[in-house]
Amino acid sequence: MTTNAFPDGAHPIAWPDNFNAAASFTFDVDAESCTIAHDPTSTRRMSLMSHQSYGPRVAVPRLLKILERQEIQGTFFIPGFTAESYPDVVRRIVDGGHEVAHHGYLHEPMQGIDAATEANYLDRGLEALAKVAGVRPVGYRAPWWELNWHSPALLADRGFLYDSSLLDGDAPYRMAVATDSGDSRDTDSRDIVEIPVDWALDDWEQYAFYPGVTGSGVIESPAKVLEMWTLEAEAHHAQGSCFVLTNHPFISGRPSKAVALEQLIERVKAMDGMWVTTLERIAEHTKTTVNEIHRHARIEVPSYPGAGASFKPARLLEAIPR
Ligand SMILES: [Zn+2]
Repeated sequence: MTTNAFPDGAHPIAWPDNFNAAASFTFDVDAESCTIAHDPTSTRRMSLMSHQSYGPRVAVPRLLKILERQEIQGTFFIPGFTAESYPDVVRRIVDGGHEVAHHGYLHEPMQGIDAATEANYLDRGLEALAKVAGVRPVGYRAPWWELNWHSPALLADRGFLYDSSLLDGDAPYRMAVATDSGDSRDTDSRDIVEIPVDWALDDWEQYAFYPGVTGSGVIESPAKVLEMWTLEAEAHHAQGSCFVLTNHPFISGRPSKAVALEQLIERVKAMDGMWVTTLERIAEHTKTTVNEIHRHARIEVPSYPGAGASFKPARLLEAIPR
């Protein structure tokens, strides 16, 4: 193993022999689930449903061909509802040698839910993947990348190896299940691996648009996106960290976007010493080689005279489905 990888990072990691950085191409197969979770009445909208079903029906087969041509394995985060709706697609992903991971059951909104409710979603998603494809995933990505403080313990309870929903690093690290909450009962000694993500490496912000549902109305040029993501990959490669790209098949599986994605894969593969692999393999490597375990500190609202009396954000950000 090299020992100089990513020496200045908050979460130092040494990559396997002959590698000095890592890259993973991940696909969130949301299909209809993210739209239904945002608005259950969206099932009445034939065109909107067709926009979402383009993912499993047209885009996933195209993307699988690209991955096969490029001889790399991807990680596919699949909500249980998608798996039950498109069982053959999930089986094709598995047969292609790719990793299937957990992404909720119906891409449920996670913000503010209690642990029991979240546990229910996790179990329902696990049941669906087991039933459809005989898969027991080791990886989890929260819908909308929205992890709760209680989520790591729920994942550890179910034997998950890793999560990929947090945004506080350039490289994977081991995350303590217990937080620095100031509560002396918080003594859980378990940990899972965290593989951080980045909104700049998500295709939603570049391409997603459906009138009245999501997006700004601007659909970026794949040439611009290819340039932007290449710069990110080059920077991760140079500093020895981990490039994790998140694509949604119904977005990035459309013709010109898929061509640009294949060009990006070619460029990343050509980077000297870049380990292009699944998140599962990156997580296994992290678990077995990193000794330090990071405990997250919970943020407390500061208390001082007048606190909370008049403060109001200028504009509340609305939830954006993704
Ligand atoms: Zn998603």
